[in-house]
Amino acid sequence: MKAFKFRLVPTPEQETLLSRHAGCVRFVWNKALDLQTRRLDAGIPLLSYGDMAKLLTLWRSSEEYGFLALGPVHPQQQTLKNLDRALWEALDKTNPKRFPRFKRKGEGDSLRYPDPLQIKIDLATRDPQGRNLLPRIFLPKVGWVKVRVSRDIEGDLRNATVTRTAGRWAVSLQTEREIPEPEIRTRPEVGVDLGVAFFASTSDGFRIHPSPDLSMAMKAAKKKLVWEQRKLSRKDRKGPKSQNFRKQKIRVARAHERVANMRLDFLHKASTTVGETQAVVYVEDLKIRNMTRSARGTKESPGRNVRQKSGLNRSILSQGWGTFLSLLAYKLERRGGRLVQVDPRNTSRTCFACGHIAAENRPDQTAFRCVSCGYEDHADTNAAKNILRAGHARCACSPGQPGEFVALPFSRRINPRE
Ligand SMILES: [Zn+2]
Repeated sequence: MKAFKFRLVPTPEQETLLSRHAGCVRFVWNKALDLQTRRLDAGIPLLSYGDMAKLLTLWRSSEEYGFLALGPVHPQQQTLKNLDRALWEALDKTNPKRFPRFKRKGEGDSLRYPDPLQIKIDLATRDPQGRNLLPRIFLPKVGWVKVRVSRDIEGDLRNATVTRTAGRWAVSLQTEREIPEPEIRTRPEVGVDLGVAFFASTSDGFRIHPSPDLSMAMKAAKKKLVWEQRKLSRKDRKGPKSQNFRKQKIRVARAHERVANMRLDFLHKASTTVGETQAVVYVEDLKIRNMTRSARGTKESPGRNVRQKSGLNRSILSQGWGTFLSLLAYKLERRGGRLVQVDPRNTSRTCFACGHIAAENRPDQTAFRCVSCGYEDHADTNAAKNILRAGHARCACSPGQPGEFVALPFSRRINPRE
């Protein structure tokens, strides 16, 4: 499965239709949620998805809710399916998720078309006179909408989702194609240390970091976001939600989007660089890292000034680690490789040469100098080497048997534009 996300260019009339259709979907969600919540409160079993779908048919043909029939039926059914799942997940005793909430106007507008037969894509980019045209996509009850197709669409269309973020419409196309099972590869392999001074460092001494230009641009985008957020909170204090408040909210959403896009772009490039040159990559288990971070905090990163200086980078980059690993796992597995997670404890304080563990081995953020044997290395490289070794210890079995690896299960489908 692969996802392709493109910007839609609807006419004002089409925009009105899309808003209205999304409003119908929201109405169905809220109405069904209200109904199910009342049943829960009264101690009556929940209605099944099938029952809810039957109710929807009734609503659509009723006088009171007949306006729902002006919108396409599939996205409305889909929202019932989503609600059904959300309710069951919230009621799951072993691992309860957050209870579904009512949706407000303009909040997470989305239309999912689960049936690919209802969607048509016309990629012809020239009219008979040879003039350039935008490709278009056919959406039920909206018609042909222009779309900016920014890259080739591979595979067979499975479903489409139309969403509005920051006041702009986009379509995400999910496609599927058969890829022959890749041959298992175990070499070359590398350990990777995730950091902030450098985003990632490998055990063979390479560094992966945004270029100075990108770094500056990211910082500027982040600063702008903070600035716009501040302006929003100022407007928020002034009584009821004004038109200006709503406009400012869109500005904040766009600034958010810009930072997120820059980061994702970098993460894609970074994961491709590693994923296409390596077969097995050992990384820190972020879950354990997050659990132990507070405990190891100051000891591991002395140099306070360094930390403050990299503050902006820190907030931009450290938010990308999880996505980076998911993307990397996907890119490795696609080519028969594996991502292996290891316990990160002590990897940055341990001497790779003699195994001596001491916080004093790290005189500052970047240097590693073993107080026991005198071994010197870049701190991140030393950590990456330790991660590689820890990975080997973990996979003490013969390499080449993927079942024995503790791999990151690539269960979450990654929307490459997410
Ligand atoms: Zn040593």
